Amino acid sequence: MAYKELDTKSVVEYLKTRPALAEVLPVNDEYEASEIGDGNLNMVFIIQSKTVPERTVIVKQALPYLRVVGESWPLTRDRIIYETEALKIYNEIAPEFSPIVYDNDYDMSVAVMENLNQHEIMRKPLVSRERFPKFAEHISSFLANVLFKTSDLYLSSKDKKALQEKFMNPELRKLQEDFVYTNPFMEAEENNWNPLIDDLAKDVRSDGKLKQEINKLKIDYVLKAQALLHADLHTGSIMLNKEETKVIDPEFAFVGPMAYDIAAVIQNLILNYASHFAHTKDTAQRESYQDYLLETIQDIWNGFAFKFDQLWQAENQGDLSPNSYWDFEGGEEAFAEFRKDYLQNVLQDVAGIGGTKMLRRMFGIVTVWDISSIEDEHERAKVERFIVNLGRRWIMERKSISSIEQLIAMTKEEAAKLEF
Ligand code: ADP
Ligand code: MG
Repeated sequence: MAYKELDTKSVVEYLKTRPALAEVLPVNDEYEASEIGDGNLNMVFIIQSKTVPERTVIVKQALPYLRVVGESWPLTRDRIIYETEALKIYNEIAPEFSPIVYDNDYDMSVAVMENLNQHEIMRKPLVSRERFPKFAEHISSFLANVLFKTSDLYLSSKDKKALQEKFMNPELRKLQEDFVYTNPFMEAEENNWNPLIDDLAKDVRSDGKLKQEINKLKIDYVLKAQALLHADLHTGSIMLNKEETKVIDPEFAFVGPMAYDIAAVIQNLILNYASHFAHTKDTAQRESYQDYLLETIQDIWNGFAFKFDQLWQAENQGDLSPNSYWDFEGGEEAFAEFRKDYLQNVLQDVAGIGGTKMLRRMFGIVTVWDISSIEDEHERAKVERFIVNLGRRWIMERKSISSIEQLIAMTKEEAAKLEF
């Protein structure tokens, strides 16, 4: 079928023509469709049977332009292919952490998936101080499994190259290259920041050492093809409840530096942590929630590192570092040291990428709701200064980092300087 933009009427008719959906959405049933519309990029429809509410799916369709901006900003419809193919890999490697993909139709730029109607997007509940006790356990399992099993440590050299080729994703990668690593740190028309931190914006833009480090991190983003990334794993791409966690929206997927996804999750929790200086006036309540966030960060990294290493030891079947290579007297210790060093490098990358992402959210094209919802601009500026100072330290001091506890200590040090 040739490409045509769907609407709430045509989407129902369209779905009835899809053989793959015969079981999920029996054709004789009557369906209702609505459009969600909180996404920035694409059309997302909910379809539900009028008689059997369990018969429901989400339909996502890519438009040939960026939805928030409109037709003046063209963007490849191929993004739905990357998203769907990444979700299918999650369905295989980490099925409990992703919506089931029921169908895809790349002529129509459509994916049909499980409706996560028992889950909510993570960002807002974090602002209202909700706790998700299983989240760290879940997301660290997701990250360890997906990052290990799409890396050269698990895949053969040949399969890994095929994966890289499949996930070239040149257009969306270019967006991140520009909007994460470059434009926020120079004159660019889309940049947007609180005028009360003008001085900081100038200071960051003219900090030669900092800019060298950010540019080195960009080289990693461009060249360090370690594992299949979601590449946009902020708290708006996570849907959850107290029992389950699901990762959605991997349209930026490509093979890049492992730390990028870990950093995205951790850095979003740091932004939320910072936002509570303004959102939560009651000191005891604030400190308790902020402690919870820092513990979550600690559990995410330590859980990830532990599970990744376990997987590596148990399933070291890639071509990068075969067991036979370590088969000599003292080899076991040497291999253990090598793994430890590998994970330490990932952690240092987390610090660098996390710091860069903190800065870009303060000066670049898009902020996050946790921060933008702080109404008093003076309070917001204080929070933003904290984030910028911390981000700079995570970048500049990353080479001295060997544990997540050090990054947490740095966060607390910067927080102690704040007056609220
Ligand atoms: P975009 O790529 O346009 O940002 P998203 O994939 O983030 O689109 O989806 C936009 C919104 O649609 C999400 O914030 C969420 O509220 C809802 N949504 C997306 N996928 C699902 C799903 N599988 N189940 C339920 N709701 C979903
Ligand atoms: Mg999205």
